[in-house]
This record gives sequence, structure tokens and C-alpha cells, in this order.
Amino acid sequence: MDHLPIFLDVRGKRTLIVGNGVSAARKADLVLRAGSDLTIVAPEPGEELAQLAESYNFKYQSRALVASDLAGCVIVFGCSNDDSVNQNLRELAMAEGILVNVSDKTEDCDFIMPAVVDRTPLLIAISSGGTSPLLVRMLKARFETSIPAAYGRLAEFAGSYRDRIKALIPNLTRRRRFWEAMVSGPVAEHVFSNQLEEAETLMGRHLEDASRAGDQPPQGEVYLVGTGPGDPDLLTFRALRLMQQADVVLYDRLIGDGILNLVRRDAQRIYVGKLKHNHTVSQEEIGRMLIDLAKQGKRVLRLKGGDPFVFGRGGEEIEALSENGIAFQVVPGVTAASGCAAYAGIPLTHRDHAQACVFVTGHEKDGELHLNWNSLIQPRQTVVLYMGLTSLAAITRGFLDHGADPQTPAAVIENGTRAGQRVICGTLESPLDTTSRARVKSPALIIVGSVVSLRDKLSWFDNRPAED
Ligand code: SAH
Repeated sequence: MDHLPIFLDVRGKRTLIVGNGVSAARKADLVLRAGSDLTIVAPEPGEELAQLAESYNFKYQSRALVASDLAGCVIVFGCSNDDSVNQNLRELAMAEGILVNVSDKTEDCDFIMPAVVDRTPLLIAISSGGTSPLLVRMLKARFETSIPAAYGRLAEFAGSYRDRIKALIPNLTRRRRFWEAMVSGPVAEHVFSNQLEEAETLMGRHLEDASRAGDQPPQGEVYLVGTGPGDPDLLTFRALRLMQQADVVLYDRLIGDGILNLVRRDAQRIYVGKLKHNHTVSQEEIGRMLIDLAKQGKRVLRLKGGDPFVFGRGGEEIEALSENGIAFQVVPGVTAASGCAAYAGIPLTHRDHAQACVFVTGHEKDGELHLNWNSLIQPRQTVVLYMGLTSLAAITRGFLDHGADPQTPAAVIENGTRAGQRVICGTLESPLDTTSRARVKSPALIIVGSVVSLRDKLSWFDNRPAED
């Protein structure tokens, strides 16, 4: 981050604005709304400032800036049209250790002013760090229309119960759950429709229930969530919702930052990634961690690349949960085969090419592929191989040794659906050469079958040309 976002309490505290134009008036409006004791110094008042004086009280000094104007100020603003005046203010402020903002000069600012969506006491501040005011305006407009004015009322209502609930429910996890139920349930609905008495009655009932329930940690739960092959846009709504309410997340190598950034900010993050031949955390350990965390009352998010039930060991992980009586839910994800196929422009089935599609693992066990070649080499069938990159040579040899047509089209898709997606097409006879030359890295998926030839016409996503 280039800036630290904070909300400053300026109520009753001195602030200073130098200048009298539109920018001065905008800043004045904000600091006055926040209750600051504002002084404006400018040779003569502008039209906007005169308008502001109709609604607010502030001191106005019709003269040049003097050093004593800064005395006792928490922040100062340089909004003059004259650069030298702003520079003078900046130097005086720096000498006094007061933070300064100079209009339209990010490089001269100790702090910048965000765009604000005001639902007091709820405030949303938006900033692009000065890079794109247009984007900021667009986002502000979006929030203005999507966040009803009543949210401010809800925040106020919640605030009035905060101390009481803290005393009543000392357990943090339980308290969070309580609030979540309040702000998304009937209490909130009453507040939104301004039926405050009804909201208070309901709240009173919830408080009684809470005091009866004691302070035991709540029931934990595990969410086994498929995140798709990488593009965060391919997440399901349900995945996103559970990601936003998890207390702790277990993730591995296949989960990119784009997806991890969507998990609730203050959720604890645990990396349980496995590197080939170098298992960092064993499957049993992961299972045990899920159980232990859920038993502590946590909502545990187990993120899985693609779909948890397709070569994802999802079944094994929840078997242990079920044996231990832990509640869980499973969220499907777009599996690598469908994601990569779609983004590579290779339909897995097609009336003119393939009426069947099989997913197999190309992972070698004890140095050998355990594949039923005869069932794979069938006419009008697409074969998708997961985890087949390291054994690609053995795979193509297996196909050829068992009688497959050497001219059968085959594709290797690296980093499917992600920014660095690369698709290398060839035939069973040749893709090995091309891929080894192109040094493909994991994750990569192999598709074998005549559907691969459709890519010439249907490719739409590649942003990195194949190197052959
Ligand atoms: N459960 C996952 C598969 C996990 S196995 C799913 O449903 O997709 C891991 C294998 O998936 C990798 O070796 C690779 O073959 C494939 N894979 C996953 N993400 C991929 C991606 N973005 N691009 C290409 N292959 C991918």
C-alpha cells in the first residue's frame, strides 16, 4: 500500500485551509462536517466559501498566511492557486511537524483525501492514490447507489448495543456470530424500514437467548470449497460467501493470490501446500487440523483448486470429518478440464468429434502409470489427463504402444484460465518435443482427441502465444 488509510477525529480540533477556490470549499465542507474548528486564510472569499458560510461556522482571515495560523492545527491544506503560497504553507507545516495536503500535488502531500461515501456513522473512503480519479468516481457512484442510506441507521443501532453485548458475550467467535445474525437478519430489516421499536424488542429477545446460552464457543464447521482453475471470476457465489465468513483458511499451491485476497482479511491463513516429493503437510495432518480447528468453534475454510471432488482428495478430507461428527459443506468448483478447455477454445465434446470424455490422472505411482489404455483409446472420445506433465513422455508412448493414431491431436495447457495461460498443440507423436522445448511448468493439463483441432477456429483467450 502506498498510503495508510485512517479516519481522523478532528472534532473540536483546529485545522487550516489556505485558499478560496472550489478545492478549498470541498475540503472545508468535509472538515466542517467532521466537526473541526476550521480557519480559512485567503486574500478574499470565493463564491463557494461564501455559500459554505451560510451553513457552517468557521473563521475567515482575509490576508496572507502567517506562521502563527498553524498553531495548534492537527492538519493543514494548501488549496491556493498560487504555488508559492502552498509551498510556504508546506514548509511551515513541516517545521512544526504538522501533516499537510496540497491540492492536486500528491508528491507534496503527507496525506491525501479520499472520495467519501457518507452513511454516518458508516463511512466508505475510496482512493486510487492519485492514479485514476475517474475510476474513483465510478466506484463512488456504485457504492452510493448500492448502499442504502439506512445502513448508517443500522450502524448507529448496532453501536448503541456494543458495550452491552461485549459484556454479555465475552467469547469473540460467539460474539461475531451474534453480530452477523443481527446485521443480516430480521433485526436489520426492521432498522432498514425504520421500525426501531420492533427492532429493539427483537434485539432484547436475542440478548436473553444469548445470556441463557452461556459463553461456550459455538459449533465449528468446515467448508470444503472448490475455487476453479485460477481465474477468480470463476468462483461461485457460494464459494465467495463462505470465503468471506471463514475464521481460518487452509490453502495450497494451486490457490493464487487473486483468490486468496478474497478471503476475509482477518481470517488466519495456514499454508498446507504440497510440493512434489516434498510433502510439507501430510494428508492425515491436514485432516487432523481441520478437525481440531472446527472443534475450537472455528469456521474452517479448506480451499481446493478446481473441484474438490475431482482429483482433489476432497472425499478423504471430509471422511475424517464425518467420522468425528464435524459439520461440513462442499462447494463445487470449475474443474481444470472444463476451465482450461473453455479458455483454450477446445470443446470437450462436439457432435462431429467426440461423444464421450474421460478424466484420468497421469500421476505415476511407483514409477508407473496405471491407466486402462484400451478404454482410453476409443473412437470419438476425448481424454483429459490431470497431473500428467512429468509423465508426458510415458503417456504419449503408452497411447502409441497401445495402437492410438500417431496423428491424434493433443494439447498441453499451462496455467489455464490465468494471465499466463499458454496452449501448445501438436499430435500424440509430436507434443513432447514442442512442450519440452517450450519448458512447460505446472500446473498443466493434457487434452487428447480430435476436438483439439477446433482450437484453430475457437481460440479466444490466449494472451501469450505458444512458443512454437
Ligand atoms: N481438483 C482439481 C485438480 C487437482 S489435481 C480440479 O478439479 O481441477 C492438479 C492438476 O490439475 C494439475 O496437475 C493440473 O493437471 C490440473 N490443473 C489445475 N489447475 C490448472 C490450471 N490452471 N491449468 C492447467 N492445469 C491445471
